[in-house]
Amino acid sequence: MPTITDRLQQVRAEIHRAEQAAQRSPGSVRLLAVSKTHGIADIQEALAAGQTAFGESYLQEALPKITALAGTGIEWHFIGPIQSNKTAQIAAHFDWVHSVDRLKIAQRLNEQRGARAPLNVCIQVNTSGESSKSGISAHELPALARAITLLPHLTLRGLMTIPAPEPDPQQQRRPFHQLKLYLDQLNQTGMTLDTLSMGMSDDLGAAIAEGATIVRVGTAIFGPRAGKDKH
Ligand SMILES: *Cc1c(COP(=O)(O)O)cnc(C)c1O
Repeated sequence: MPTITDRLQQVRAEIHRAEQAAQRSPGSVRLLAVSKTHGIADIQEALAAGQTAFGESYLQEALPKITALAGTGIEWHFIGPIQSNKTAQIAAHFDWVHSVDRLKIAQRLNEQRGARAPLNVCIQVNTSGESSKSGISAHELPALARAITLLPHLTLRGLMTIPAPEPDPQQQRRPFHQLKLYLDQLNQTGMTLDTLSMGMSDDLGAAIAEGATIVRVGTAIFGPRAGKDKH
């Protein structure tokens, strides 16, 4: 059985190969280790192996881990669906939120972030049409992006997507290509967005080929989630 340290090395090597294949500079893609359903000891092992950014999808599950690992310098990213009654704690305990998909949530995060350093946020976009319920549609994106850039305690960094599962590596590229076009279109209106959060264990090569700057990887680092995953 490979250890978390072994698997982390393999994922880093895969990212490096994908960067090279796409003629992108080494280190241009950040690895976010998705630790949902995995315990504190697993996170500590990844941390000891040099991983510093971790992603969580469920607030109640994340809070005890964040408390237990306070002072380690971990950068916490919230990547799951956001209910209004959870925004205060998300604003208080996370450095990034990848899954903002409506203005009301952005406004609450902004107010509740208050005097702390601005919260980095991405807008989650639906790139798979009917087959995915999460994320806003492309035609709603420009207005939401403009509104978020006006909120002083949020920094809009870019876009995130979770495409419908697709086994064919060539087909996997389509939604990622689409997300990159949306980011370019926003930047053509004067924004300076630098983040494309796209690609997971099974499609990170395709995402990097299309310009991902953060890949969110769980299974390939920590192993299977043993049916505990509510997604
Ligand atoms: C669980 C999850 C991931 C990681 O998925 P793997 O297939 O285990 O790599 C990435 N992004 C989001 C939003 C997730 O919920």
